[in-house]
Amino acid sequence: MKKVRMGKSDLHVFPIGLGTNAVGGHNLYPNLNEETGKELVREALKNGVTMLDTAYIYGIGRSEELIGEVLREFNREDVVIATKAAHRKEGNDFVFDNSPAFLKKSVDESLQRLQTDYIDLFYIHFPDEHTPKDEAVQALNELKKAGKIRAIGVSNFSLEQLKEANKDGLVDVFQGEYNLLNREAETTYFPYIQEHDISFVPYFPLVSGLLAGKYTEDTTFPEGDLRREMEHFQSDRFKENIRKVNELVPIAEKHNVDIAHVVLAWYLARPEIDMLIPGAKRADQLLDNLKTADVKLSQDDIDDIDQLFAK
Ligand code: NAP
Repeated sequence: MKKVRMGKSDLHVFPIGLGTNAVGGHNLYPNLNEETGKELVREALKNGVTMLDTAYIYGIGRSEELIGEVLREFNREDVVIATKAAHRKEGNDFVFDNSPAFLKKSVDESLQRLQTDYIDLFYIHFPDEHTPKDEAVQALNELKKAGKIRAIGVSNFSLEQLKEANKDGLVDVFQGEYNLLNREAETTYFPYIQEHDISFVPYFPLVSGLLAGKYTEDTTFPEGDLRREMEHFQSDRFKENIRKVNELVPIAEKHNVDIAHVVLAWYLARPEIDMLIPGAKRADQLLDNLKTADVKLSQDDIDDIDQLFAK
């Protein structure tokens, strides 16, 4: 698989990246081993992954720090680092802040944690209620001109907020939830981003492994596991999702890969999506997801999957 260009930016990446919220993301997952996380990043970069997707809130800076440590073992220009900020600590809580001053301070702090002098892609992670979105993006554009960031992204913005952010045509990438079980983005965001040459990076592509075909109808999750709360994992809905995922088996067998690869390849077949950032906790999962690069779905496969998950 060749490198692809993200939207109108000058970022060129291998289409399978790595989501790193489980690298040092102690506030998101219990009992994470930091060495396992660093090994995951190291293996990704050794095996052709170029894009690492992190954020300040993943481990409150710890994910960025661990990535920064591994980065020193590689040529900086071979790696494309995306990070995000918007969470400002207020007492024991976090509030969202998109003010120019906060974004500029966040970029400087991320640069220190990553031990680098530029960030390839900087996203505003979540919208705040107060800052005009075009002013927030103008602040990022100043950082771009200063050479501190190379491309501008926004995440979790409504379509209206995205339009405001992109008033001057400066947004390169939008990151939002999209997967075969949640296809809302096709009608909300896709027409706008295609028209404005913005790349859509879908998060939650495997729905915590549900779309990797790793569960059966009888799978249960322990007390405290986040999946117990998620809508796609609730009783009848869960069974219906498993039934649909199982229908992907013949397509996976035909291509001699696993269900996860078929699902990831289906996303890449969409013109709005240039690259993916499936999450992984261990290097073997990451290496496994790289097999997606070899899957060439036929138009019939694409249409069948489209129909199967249409409602
Ligand atoms: P995901 O990619 O849908 O699920 C990842 C999980 O699926 C892994 O942790 C692993 O869980 C399992 N998995 C991965 N590869 C597998 C394989 N080949 N076979 C079987 N299971 C596999 O969801 P995500 O990690 O939540 O999202 C991906 C990335 O998107 C994150 O790392 C983060 O960078 C980004 N993100 C961004 C936002 C945002 O607000 N912008 C929000 C969420 C996520 P187990 O090890 O538990 O099986």
